[in-house]
Amino acid sequence: MSEPRPGRILISEAELRARIAEIGQAIARDYAGESPILVGVLQGAFLFMADLIRAVAIDLTTDFIGVSSYSSAAKSSGQVRLLSDLSMPIEGRQVVIVEDIVDTGLTLSYLKRNLEARHPKRLRTCVLVDKIERRQVEIELDYVGFTIPNVFVVGYGFDYGGLYRNLPYIAELEGG
Ligand code: 5GP
Repeated sequence: MSEPRPGRILISEAELRARIAEIGQAIARDYAGESPILVGVLQGAFLFMADLIRAVAIDLTTDFIGVSSYSSAAKSSGQVRLLSDLSMPIEGRQVVIVEDIVDTGLTLSYLKRNLEARHPKRLRTCVLVDKIERRQVEIELDYVGFTIPNVFVVGYGFDYGGLYRNLPYIAELEGG
């Protein structure tokens, strides 16, 4: 059996650019004059975060939070662990969690609970990719880039065993 490799492109570089520009404009509109904190979820969302914030043409600050819910293999352990915390208090602030993908929903619902406990003024969610078929817990998403079927994706921040985050597009992992 050969190692799994990136295969068919699901979301091209141009599609990513266009959709992220739209989401950025929506966030800018919704938070004009409010200086929100955009919280990127490490590691997967770092590319999305970098492109997204450049599409949000208002004052904002950024922070990151690190969680681990998956082993290096392509399956969920269902366990969420906080690996690194925010660097600033968020009490009374407008906060947007920026996540790469929502699959079972366990990671984002853990993060929402964790951040809500710090009493932000309002907490919203922004996810690049929604794998809705796989949802185990109900979760409200405020900004969604793309909805995809139940396939394992790599590229544009998504890894398989630490590889392929640097691809400029999102592809399906094939083979293995
Ligand atoms: P959830 O807790 O919603 O099941 O999973 C969220 C996390 O699972 C994401 O932050 C991401 O790290 C990982 N994940 C889910 N689906 C995929 C996928 O198709 N490809 C990659 N690389 N990671 C995924």
